[in-house]
Amino acid sequence: MASGESGTCRCRASGRGGRMPLTFGSHTRLLVVAPHPDDETISAGELIQHVQQAGGEVEILLLTDGDNNPWPQRWVERRLWVGPAERERWGRRRRLEVGQALKTLGVRPEALHPLGLPDMGLTAWLRFHLDALLEHVAGRLSTFQPTHVAMPSLGDRHPDHGAAHVLMRLALAHWTDSIPAVLTYLVHGRDPREGEVVVLTPGLRMHGVKLAAMEAYASQMALSGERMRALADRPEQFRKIRALRREARVLPWQLATIRQPWLTLTVVDAGGARSFRGSAAPVTASPGGGVVLDLAPPPPGSPRFAKLHMDLRSPWIFDRWGWSEI
Ligand SMILES: [Zn+2]
Repeated sequence: MASGESGTCRCRASGRGGRMPLTFGSHTRLLVVAPHPDDETISAGELIQHVQQAGGEVEILLLTDGDNNPWPQRWVERRLWVGPAERERWGRRRRLEVGQALKTLGVRPEALHPLGLPDMGLTAWLRFHLDALLEHVAGRLSTFQPTHVAMPSLGDRHPDHGAAHVLMRLALAHWTDSIPAVLTYLVHGRDPREGEVVVLTPGLRMHGVKLAAMEAYASQMALSGERMRALADRPEQFRKIRALRREARVLPWQLATIRQPWLTLTVVDAGGARSFRGSAAPVTASPGGGVVLDLAPPPPGSPRFAKLHMDLRSPWIFDRWGWSEI
């Protein structure tokens, strides 16, 4: 990153379209959407500093307190049983940690907006409380008026991260005040290779501040310090989604896979959320190849997302099939 004239910072973007400047200034209002405490620092600790250095405003929308995090909790608290009271205490601890990390990044305490949704429960909230969630997020957007929104990638394999993307895209499609730049970040899984890549040019001082902020997350560092530091040590990279809608009609799964009775197909758009047992999913083989949804189109202007998943509790937290935008 190089400092430009009149408090403007430039970051470089590269991708199919070549290089593209991402410009911040005193007009910039960056909203960072974090499913759990630490996602904001791992993914955007330097982006936050770039915006603040340029005189812009930053807010953090923290979706959960990261309370459903049993293995680090067992390790740190030397206990086997983790019940609701223990989870709540762990969530409070992680909320304090995010406060400390943001302080290190120079973010004022009032800029943190925690929703306190259930950790590992965002997909269920999309399915069963979509209207209330959208209303709340739209209220935040209207109050803050972001010019940039940094959010998890749809392809992230952590179910809360994929669900956070769906929530924000639906809220943004519904919110008509303006169209902010959408920057997606990936923490778990493979890069979906969609949209233009924006890589922040590393700055030693900002990187040092980011790594110092990570140290606030003692609850996570105790068991996974090496992995967490490696994640935070990567050059900060985002995918800039240019258009808020993509034109892909075909589902990325085989018909025989979707039809498995132990799988659930969930479809979410501005019209609501619907879930179908795989064997009864409204899908047909397209004459042109692939599988298409047999549902009326979403309301005008709304993106639509589908997720193929197991509707069962499992010790394996990551999504196998995940979300697709259609
Ligand atoms: Zn996370």
